Amino acid sequence: MSLALRASFAVRAPLPARAVNAARESLRLAHMTETIVIHCPYCGESYETVIDLSAGSQRYVEDCAVCCKPIEVNLRVSDDGELLDISTGTDRD
Ligand SMILES: [Zn+2]
Repeated sequence: MSLALRASFAVRAPLPARAVNAARESLRLAHMTETIVIHCPYCGESYETVIDLSAGSQRYVEDCAVCCKPIEVNLRVSDDGELLDISTGTDRD
């Protein structure tokens, strides 16, 4: 049922509609950065950093701004680009 509806929508959707969607998407992505506070698991200090929510859920290593040790940062981001959870750990976890 839903597949059939989606298929007929795709056939009817003209290119200009896609262009509008693309413009909306880029506008949305342009505002998807957020300042968060990272708590360093090594030295216990916290510092602010800016993350890009448009990339979705991600896991990366960032050097602590205070002690320069590699912090593993896990971000959980919803499909709507809403930040759900931040967790940090050492890169040996
Ligand atoms: Zn640190």
